[in-house]
Amino acid sequence: MGYSRENLKKIKEEFSQKRLEAQKECERRTVELEEKYLDLKKLNALIRETGIRIMETAFSGEKDIEGKIKDIEAEYDANISIRKSFLDACGCPGDYFDVKYECELCSDEGFDDNGKMCICMKRALALATYESSGIGKLISRQSFENFDLGYYKAGEERNNMKLVLESCKDYASTFDSKTSENMLFFGTTGLGKTHLSTSVAKTVIDRGYDVVYETAQKLFDDFEHEKFSHDYNSDRESVTRKYFDCDLLIIDDLGTELSTQFTVSCLYNIINSRINNEKPMMISTNLGQKELRQRYADRITSRLFGEFSVMVFKGEDIRIKKLDEE
Ligand SMILES: [Zn+2]
Repeated sequence: MGYSRENLKKIKEEFSQKRLEAQKECERRTVELEEKYLDLKKLNALIRETGIRIMETAFSGEKDIEGKIKDIEAEYDANISIRKSFLDACGCPGDYFDVKYECELCSDEGFDDNGKMCICMKRALALATYESSGIGKLISRQSFENFDLGYYKAGEERNNMKLVLESCKDYASTFDSKTSENMLFFGTTGLGKTHLSTSVAKTVIDRGYDVVYETAQKLFDDFEHEKFSHDYNSDRESVTRKYFDCDLLIIDDLGTELSTQFTVSCLYNIINSRINNEKPMMISTNLGQKELRQRYADRITSRLFGEFSVMVFKGEDIRIKKLDEE
């Protein structure tokens, strides 16, 4: 399982910033009250010194070290209780001097004591992955929950879609970046291919994987742009690396791009490299088998038909049906 390096770095920085701000805010709050009540300032200083006094006593070589440490601890408890009454009297909460972290579970560290990632950091990473995956906006509108089988004609059409929907749900909920298969969605425009790809992406991201979703046209544009700007910016971070590195790559609308020798060789490069590295892909296309063969070289179609599980979307354009209802 892998979050993208960029997102992980970004979120870790955000977390340490968040911790720092919470600490600063606590400091500001403390100074404000201490300036108002000098006795409180003295009391806080005594409380803060406790640790050092205990250490000093422990290494002092004096007699009855244990007894002396107990005295210091008793003094500490007494000071804490005086401070509590003091805070009560000025109408401040008992935890006034505690740093207020957003997450009580991990104090905004993002990890628990055993180094396990906290739920709050997982959530932040999922949100960052929605953004970086390229489907930020679609994800808020399209999910398995609002995929409506009612738009498909009762009978064979709807039964087929029901199977496709179940397969996609199953794929997403059991997705594994090492063992999941590749999927190829066939079907004309407006049959829900994008909706289901997005839903798969959302579930897989929520489960902690790095997903990249792009239309074929945009993906090839990125390669082209990189190729032609390469000489000027050779040390620039590669924008196309994500297509090779992510756990799941989803290419939408294959066949709508302007096909050239360059796009065909890019496509081959991605498919081949991901298959060799056992990294799953999901590709959707409006083209039929025959058109795919005409458009792309054998070395591509043999991989598409040999290494991908095919899902066929059948029916009438549901987008038109949806518009009719509005
Ligand atoms: Zn947390």
